[in-house]
Amino acid sequence: MEKKKGSKKQKKRKANKHLVENTYFKRVEQLAKIKQKQDDDKATARLHSLNAVSKNNDCAIPSSDKIERMKSLRSMNSSGKVKTLEVEEHIPVSYPEVVLCVEVYHNKRRWSKIQEFLVLGHQTLTELKDKIYCLTDQVMQKAGKHDPSGYFLIEDIFFNDLRDPSAIDYSGPIFDWLRNSRDDALKKWESIITGELQQKQRAILGNVTPSKLPNFKTVDMHKTRFCDLRFQLGAGYLYCHQGDCKHTMVIRDMRLIHPEDVNNRAAYPIIIFQLKPRVQKCHVCKISRATKVTVDDKWARENPCYFCDYCFSLLHSSDESPLYAQFSVYDYVHD
Ligand SMILES: [Zn+2]
Ligand SMILES: [Zn+2]
Repeated sequence: MEKKKGSKKQKKRKANKHLVENTYFKRVEQLAKIKQKQDDDKATARLHSLNAVSKNNDCAIPSSDKIERMKSLRSMNSSGKVKTLEVEEHIPVSYPEVVLCVEVYHNKRRWSKIQEFLVLGHQTLTELKDKIYCLTDQVMQKAGKHDPSGYFLIEDIFFNDLRDPSAIDYSGPIFDWLRNSRDDALKKWESIITGELQQKQRAILGNVTPSKLPNFKTVDMHKTRFCDLRFQLGAGYLYCHQGDCKHTMVIRDMRLIHPEDVNNRAAYPIIIFQLKPRVQKCHVCKISRATKVTVDDKWARENPCYFCDYCFSLLHSSDESPLYAQFSVYDYVHD
């Protein structure tokens, strides 16, 4: 009997032990899951913060890993970004090929870079021009006054875009000025090259060596490839379009193409940086994007004042007839 009792007790203990083990295992599994989730969350948080740092404040990381990151940026592999682009055509890049990194700056905020491209040595300058985004193009388009003309001034050559039959040779009046006002042109050139102060100092010292104007030339933009150009890396060149909308252009870097680059010629010039335009909200509802801007508008809170279409119509018209007309109104795209 006692034996039996003992075995019963043992069985009971064994069963208990089994039950406890099971609950422990379950508990451990749960904990492992929680831990895994925490690790994942931490990793994403770290990724976000790294991205934020690299976007906003590169100076904050002085360590060598910043340099590594800079290097990877410099290598300019935008293959990841480009995969999302929908390029239907596929033209294989012919080797050897050179990749140039070209920056274009804002026409008013001249220090602010608006776009950065990867362009191939065998591409023409017009291929780049067609990818440059400037608000002036849109404004002129809306006003029905779009002008297809334009030029790049690289070193001493004006590259004119004369593809369109209505295009104007913008460099013409500049050459006229150089011919007809040679003295003015020389003075201007002197002050650009040496700076006005230095020029005065040299005049006092009697050490004035007459400088020569560069021998400016003109070439068709669509007939020139980047590999035909003579240029200096990092020098500021000029892009001019729509009359006198001028942008600084810089060829920042240059290297041979490698297998990790996008090997589809049709995908180039690739935009690797695009400044996000600042867009005003409607100053009335403060929700919608502004589409109109009024100036000297007596019922508006501000001058100039931004409106969405709906708020503009509410304030300025009743049953589609205007309420008052003592203001100027313009279409608004972005700042
Ligand atoms: Zn422009
Ligand atoms: Zn509104």
